Amino acid sequence: MDYLEGLNPQQRAAVENTKGPVMIVAGAGSGKTRVITYRVAHLIQSGTDAFNILVLTFTNKASKDMRERISKVVGAEAKNIWMGTFHSVFAKILRVEAEKIGYPSNFTIYDTDDSKSVIRSILKEMQLDDKLYAANFVFNRISSAKNNLISPAEYINNDQIQAEDIQNKRPLIGQIYETYAKRCFRAGAMDFDDLLFKTNILLKDHPDVLNKYQQKFKYLMVDEYQDTNFSQYTIVKKLAAAYQNICVVGDDAQSIYAFRGANIQNILNFERDYPDLKVYKLEQNYRSTQNIVEVANSIIANNKNQLEKNTFSDNEPGDRIKVSRAFTDNEEGKLVAESIVQERSTKGYDYHDFAILYRTNAQSRAMEESLRKLNVPYRIYGGLSFYQRKEIKDLIAYFRLTFNPNDEEAVKRIINYPKRGIGDTSIDKIIVAADQHDKTMWEVISNAHMYVDGRLANQLNDFSMMIQSFAAEAKKLDAYETALFIAQHAGILKELYNDDSVEGRSRYENIQELLNGIKEFAEREDIEERGLDIFMQDVALLTNDDKDGDKNKDTVSLMTIHSAKGLEFKNVFVVGLEENLFPSQMSVNSRSDLEEERRLFYVAITRAEKKLTLTYSTSRYRWGTLTNCEPSRFINEISPKFLELDVKPASKSSFLYGNFDEERKTWTSQPRDFFSKPKPATTTASAPPVRPKTTSILPKAHVPTPGFMPSQPHEFQGGMEVEHEKFGFGKIISLEGQLPDIKATVFFQGLGNKQLLLKFAKLMIV
Ligand code: ATP
Ligand code: MG
Repeated sequence: MDYLEGLNPQQRAAVENTKGPVMIVAGAGSGKTRVITYRVAHLIQSGTDAFNILVLTFTNKASKDMRERISKVVGAEAKNIWMGTFHSVFAKILRVEAEKIGYPSNFTIYDTDDSKSVIRSILKEMQLDDKLYAANFVFNRISSAKNNLISPAEYINNDQIQAEDIQNKRPLIGQIYETYAKRCFRAGAMDFDDLLFKTNILLKDHPDVLNKYQQKFKYLMVDEYQDTNFSQYTIVKKLAAAYQNICVVGDDAQSIYAFRGANIQNILNFERDYPDLKVYKLEQNYRSTQNIVEVANSIIANNKNQLEKNTFSDNEPGDRIKVSRAFTDNEEGKLVAESIVQERSTKGYDYHDFAILYRTNAQSRAMEESLRKLNVPYRIYGGLSFYQRKEIKDLIAYFRLTFNPNDEEAVKRIINYPKRGIGDTSIDKIIVAADQHDKTMWEVISNAHMYVDGRLANQLNDFSMMIQSFAAEAKKLDAYETALFIAQHAGILKELYNDDSVEGRSRYENIQELLNGIKEFAEREDIEERGLDIFMQDVALLTNDDKDGDKNKDTVSLMTIHSAKGLEFKNVFVVGLEENLFPSQMSVNSRSDLEEERRLFYVAITRAEKKLTLTYSTSRYRWGTLTNCEPSRFINEISPKFLELDVKPASKSSFLYGNFDEERKTWTSQPRDFFSKPKPATTTASAPPVRPKTTSILPKAHVPTPGFMPSQPHEFQGGMEVEHEKFGFGKIISLEGQLPDIKATVFFQGLGNKQLLLKFAKLMIV
């Protein structure tokens, strides 16, 4: 029982109390994840079968790390624990049970791009304006409905939702949702939200299945419980109902996914759901220095809605928090990179001891450039996933079609790639024929002579024969052999090989890398089934962070704060601490949004063990425009006694909002009332910004979520992106006048500036 020695008395009590409901709500770095890890090890050491344990983590990487730690205590048994993200665990269960809810077990998982493509084709068929019913907006609305377990029929019949959609001038979202659901079902496909939504349906409609998994998962544990949504909450509650051996850990102060439906209410409900609940308090932070912990505590105290808890550190007081100012984002990158080089050489750190955290993915560019200039190796987490690259998606679409020919998004993607003379007009013909005869696209393609004429029919016949030959090979060959066969015979390898541009070469290399990954899979010793269909099961859920390639390389980590949840680094830089960036522009007019931003700041600073540096720039290119920036209010919320300022002499007196104190080399803060009238942004906008793509279910930068339900009233502010019924998308340049007669100058793409009276303009924030 040596492993229990590494726990304090409260942690140990929570680890040893394995029966009945347990909850730990405690601050960052207090050992919540450690408790779950040791609890699982302890259960197994005490004789529990690893197959009876289910652990739900927030990322694949977190579960991998945890499994490694557990195996140090329990050995090989660790591989039998059911452990992973909600999506990966329930995708696995759905594959086994799919037929009960009318799906094939080899159902496809549609990623966000696939989902939006389905939505776009529905919009086209319904002849709806795709500006008004922007795919992104509709997608978020549907996603939100699913996460709240609202089916299409319930959506359409719910007066409140209908009223909201009518108010938003998009009354037909319910119908789109209904068609979307049918379309996915027909294609044998589930989107990310379906993995949870359909699991709920499965457990609700099939008591035998529910019972089976209740018996199987006698012990359940959930990390980062504060970020579960209603759909996840319901699954956990159902599974735990029989034995009630459920342990959840989380920190309300780190709830940062409200924009995607996470609900802090789940923590409060937990107490109500389990009256016998045992609650453990963890108050000691083992991760960070005293200064960092005190700063974190004082920051979060500015939030009104917090559960009360204490956190202290027994570690050394540590360095002060360093604040550095730059004049441009490139200079900010430079000072971060130089500081890493210096700290590493003078203090003996390795590169992997450093992390650079930012609010939005776009900020990584300046950091990367500076790191490259100084030859600092780095790795970006959570960026555009390898699996989202075009060439990878193309080849994977062939794999998808091989196992599920009804997968319409895959058909559309590759029926004419590489080119085989089946152009858009032909594809439209297939879709029309399929609709007319109530068939899937594949049924039309594989019986082409019944539906379309001569030449096209021949081409489709060739295509369908090819896919069928892939399916036949897949039955005989292992994953790698099948993948290679498909890549060769579909013509993708040749196509890319012949493209000798730099991009073409890199695409060819990416395909090779995918094939290498599949080869590794096919050669694994710990699995019994090595078919490509097995490899494909999880591929839609994989992200860059799951690729092991450079795991052992000594690199600086770059990531958004959302991706950094649960992690720790000796040396952390939080960059871009500027008003309208962090806190983000969308958040500053509503208390609840601002509090979520502050929680995000709390997450960022509590990642640091030894040293924390905050940086900001006084100007920054945003959306192609040079914008003046003010330092973030969050810096202002830190008591000066914790800070060390790194300010160039020229403008030290104007530093931040307060006065610079020469003697103390610090500044006296003058807290501002940030809820007073917002200052219009001074930007001169060019084109409205292109939204960053959200294509992964894993933590990403907080992208303001259009259409998020329930909607909140917003005030308008300079710089905001808006949508006008007639003029389309634009950006507010400035606001003048008093309520109710505020006049906005809005820049619309292709139209230039327009002056609009807000009370009539019915602008919508996008
Ligand atoms: P977060 O809220 O950020 O997810 P957490 O509460 O899950 O944090 P852990 O990651 O479990 O905290 O622990 C933080 C660090 O403190 C880890 O490095 C962990 O190993 C260490 N730690 C936790 N408890 C103890 C202990 N009793 N003795 C020594 N180290 C500990
Ligand atoms: Mg944790």
